[in-house]
Amino acid sequence: MHSGKDAVRSFVESVDVYRDDTADPTFLSADEVDTLQGRLLRDQIVRLRESSPYYSATLLDIDLPDQMSRHWLEQLPFTRKDDYQAAPERFRLHLESSNPYDRTWGLVHTTGTTTGEPTPFYDTGHDMLAYWQMLLRTCKIAGMTPDDVSVSVMPVPAMSHNAFISSRDACSVLNSPYIAAFVGTPQPEFPIHRRTDYALRLIERNQATVIWGIASYVRHLVMRGQELGTDMSSIRLVWALGEACPVPMREDLRERLASLGAAHDAIRINNGLGFTEMRGTFVECLELNGCHNPSPDLFIWEVVDEDSGRQVPDGSTGSLALTHLNRRGTALVRYLTGDTVAMTRESCVNCGRSGERILPQHESIYAARVSDWVKFKGVLLHPAPILAALAALTALTQYQVILSKSDTSDPYSMDRLVVRVAESTGDDDLRGRLQADVRQAVHAACEIRPDVEWVPASAIYDPDVSIKARRFLDERPHQEHGVT
Ligand SMILES: [Zn+2]
Repeated sequence: MHSGKDAVRSFVESVDVYRDDTADPTFLSADEVDTLQGRLLRDQIVRLRESSPYYSATLLDIDLPDQMSRHWLEQLPFTRKDDYQAAPERFRLHLESSNPYDRTWGLVHTTGTTTGEPTPFYDTGHDMLAYWQMLLRTCKIAGMTPDDVSVSVMPVPAMSHNAFISSRDACSVLNSPYIAAFVGTPQPEFPIHRRTDYALRLIERNQATVIWGIASYVRHLVMRGQELGTDMSSIRLVWALGEACPVPMREDLRERLASLGAAHDAIRINNGLGFTEMRGTFVECLELNGCHNPSPDLFIWEVVDEDSGRQVPDGSTGSLALTHLNRRGTALVRYLTGDTVAMTRESCVNCGRSGERILPQHESIYAARVSDWVKFKGVLLHPAPILAALAALTALTQYQVILSKSDTSDPYSMDRLVVRVAESTGDDDLRGRLQADVRQAVHAACEIRPDVEWVPASAIYDPDVSIKARRFLDERPHQEHGVT
């Protein structure tokens, strides 16, 4: 990460693989990006008319002007996750082409879906080249160089999954050394998974400068490093991905890494907002300065009002929708990701880049999932600000927010908000202070006073079972759930 346009420009010029990427559209003006996206959108819509089983019928009768812009999209219906998950093969282009780059290369799966069923997302060779170029631009924005040494603690997935693959591919296209620690849930038949302590030894032995991982697991890793006294003096960048990483959590990580020898002020924590359907992540040029679309020539991102179908003004909050601009495998139009975000298209005052940039909300997170809205005591509640407030309490090692009932055997009894906190080490004063802090933080975030329960840390988060902590659970009987 570099501060200021001049520093960013001279950094790009100093790294040959970045300097050679002369067509990087993020350095166009905002108007030039609009024109480029309009032209690519037209090409993609023509392609979908001819080759997309899902979109061809809808798009055939729609007028295609010579000059198009993202506003043209407002007349089209949204594509919902349920539509895509119900028939993923219908979103795959059927290209009548002898071009080998139009053939299927592979697929990744989306996860965390409402149905629980993984959905395949197909790439052709053409899409892979675009993907690698996007990853190179992602590294460029984050300030990585070919001299960086990466250790990835992304978990080995059971299915082809983007997070594990893209950290490896990003380092490959950057021509920089990469080591996968191969952590994750052990599988007895093939005992190739490594433990956290081994990952720490890899970091030390290889003098890693970059860690890639899920935010809560990276924190667990660094805390274990403190117990072992691991040398982490070479670390300068942490990709804390897959979940929100608010300011206090970043500061906490930075301080812990500094206690293991890293240069405090030089450590950058990069928290992107990633999607399988983009095969990558929005990326910060500077911490909390907003998250850039690394390739505005591959996607148009809209922030929309789902009821009217219209785009909302820059800076306003709405639902995030993705339209692919240059795809040959799976291709989506106005695909609702399920996130609520605020976005700007103004050129970034820090790095000068144009294209879409997602702005932080609730002080320091980039997105709130639409499906996380719940009714609690009859009013709508979103966990994002509560979790952000708890993440700010760095004395908490592990925590979890539970929606429950005052009488768990009676579905009509009062709703109850419980914060489960990892047992602290028998110090009553500390425990009392922590309890008061938790109650106050949650009240400030949502005006509800929670009950606090003490449980063993492993009851909240066991990295051998799941790589991502489950921070929010609704344990109320089903009929009381959700938004009606
Ligand atoms: Zn920027």
